[in-house]
Amino acid sequence: DRLVTAAADGEDQAVEAALRPKLLDEFIGQERVREQLSLVLQAARKRGSAPDHVLLSGPPGLGKTTLSMIIAAELGAPIRITSGPAIQHAGDLAAILSSLTEGEVLFLDEIHRMSRPAEEMLYMAMEDFRVDVIVGKGPGATAIPLELPPFTLVGATTRAGLLPPPLRDRFGFTGHMEFYAPVELQRVVHRSATLLDVEIDPAGAAEIAGRSRGTPRIANRLLRRVRDYAQVRHDGVVTAEIAGQALDVYEVDARGLDRLDRAVLDALLRLFGGGPVGLSTLAVAVGEEAETVEEVAEPFLVREGLLARTPRGRIATAAAWQHLGLTPPVQTPP
Ligand code: ADP
Repeated sequence: DRLVTAAADGEDQAVEAALRPKLLDEFIGQERVREQLSLVLQAARKRGSAPDHVLLSGPPGLGKTTLSMIIAAELGAPIRITSGPAIQHAGDLAAILSSLTEGEVLFLDEIHRMSRPAEEMLYMAMEDFRVDVIVGKGPGATAIPLELPPFTLVGATTRAGLLPPPLRDRFGFTGHMEFYAPVELQRVVHRSATLLDVEIDPAGAAEIAGRSRGTPRIANRLLRRVRDYAQVRHDGVVTAEIAGQALDVYEVDARGLDRLDRAVLDALLRLFGGGPVGLSTLAVAVGEEAETVEEVAEPFLVREGLLARTPRGRIATAAAWQHLGLTPPVQTPP
């Protein structure tokens, strides 16, 4: 698997618990979301009631699960964690909802991937703290209303636009998570290094941050690989030079591109003169499936301003030529 993917792998899951900030003050970056959330939580505490339901939207690895745990911790409430894909039937959701205790936080990851009947049950639960449990089948089926204790739903989604409006409207507050700035990621790396007992200097943390694609999960993963390298080949201390060498071994370049990303750019520049070239042709040149190129490599290349998708095909930007250290062909005037 790719070192630079934002999705969590098994190793991440084991280490992440130890690296998660526990309180809002420890949470780095996302100033706006943090301030807004802090107001929502303080107001709820003052009123002595459960806060409005919270929706967190943004790409994977930016801290949505972490924030949900912080919300529970700040409220002094227990938290239950589940996800949209885990809820296949409305009954699965009814079972979870009916076992919640008063004030509990329910974290529902990938909420846009819930089944339709479960979603409809959730509307009522969010609004009226009530569900109708259907008993029996066919004409004899009856709905038994069930009162729920007040709880706070924290929903997470990679794209708020995917949520049906009736669901979106039932959240009192939506926090939009942004990719982290390099200085913020540098602080994330430094904090994690301290927790993992890794000695790192500021330039070493900056080097890792710069290759982490704006994503704390990737930063923490790269830090662990750099730690391995520093311990095996050196004295364990992470400097910019050591971090750079280590991540070169793992083929994550100075801008966070990995082998696949570079292969796509390289083919686009060297074989097709920077484009425009069609996706399928580009994919054949790289020896990958078109979907892999389109869904795995391109989003980051586009985000970085290295590649553009146009109706005529993929084209490289001036920054792409510069990044690979190549000279664009001279345009001959018509
Ligand atoms: P998501 O739920 O959005 O996929 P997570 O909350 O699981 O992301 O975060 C992934 C990892 O990144 C966790 O180990 C977490 O500790 C770390 N992390 C995320 N955001 C921050 C932050 N703002 N400060 C420090 N660490 C963070």
